[in-house]
Amino acid sequence: MLVDTHIHLADDAYLDILDEVIEEARGRFKSIIVSGVDYKTSLDAIRLAERYDFLYASIGLHPQEVTKLENLAWIKELAKHEKVIAIGEIGLDYYWDEQYKDFQKELFIKQIKIANELDLPVVVHSRSAHQDTFDILKTHKTKGVLHCYSGSVELAREYTKLGYYIGIGGVVTFKNAKTIKEVVSDIDLKYLLTETDGPYLTPHPYRGKVNRPIYIEYVISEIAKLKNKTKNEIEEKIYNNYLELFGGTNEEI
Ligand SMILES: [Zn+2]
Repeated sequence: MLVDTHIHLADDAYLDILDEVIEEARGRFKSIIVSGVDYKTSLDAIRLAERYDFLYASIGLHPQEVTKLENLAWIKELAKHEKVIAIGEIGLDYYWDEQYKDFQKELFIKQIKIANELDLPVVVHSRSAHQDTFDILKTHKTKGVLHCYSGSVELAREYTKLGYYIGIGGVVTFKNAKTIKEVVSDIDLKYLLTETDGPYLTPHPYRGKVNRPIYIEYVISEIAKLKNKTKNEIEEKIYNNYLELFGGTNEEI
């Protein structure tokens, strides 16, 4: 069974194709985690998860949404919902928002604390902020996944030493994506997870189109190739990893 640990299904890109995208994944997927980036999209993610049995929600405030310090009481409130199984996406993004670094860090740490309090894993976004993200996740120990990991092999090793998982998406299928291919080859399979990050980062040969969970088949193929294992072996192992990280939470999965 496949798992998609990160997708923005409430995004407008899916408006006209949502049922089709979900139905084509039915029976093939054990779980698809719909991610919010703020209060509204977190609520949207929960609403979607209510409609489909194999959809779950991840709620939180994305670093790109941070322009001031905010009251995060809504996260604890929404997390009471039985289909909320993670806090995310949260993290640091200096690519878009260099000026709000301190707010980003503070809100990231606050959300890690909330996740720990609720015993939920975190789904972490890190862009152009690899060292700071690592430092925070080292100091404020929690459990979680580095979604759409884009750092170095060395850093990935450090993360796995701390027990964090590495999220692998469509980028690994791109011909020139040398580093992430190296990461997949190097890192123990027990730390890898699969995701779309849809609607973005669609794998080859659909690059440029709206991403769909079903395209994770291509990510699995690439991981199998890099690991010199069968697709079934990869799929099974990644599903186990998923259970390890997200299993013992609100919902019996
Ligand atoms: Zn995302």
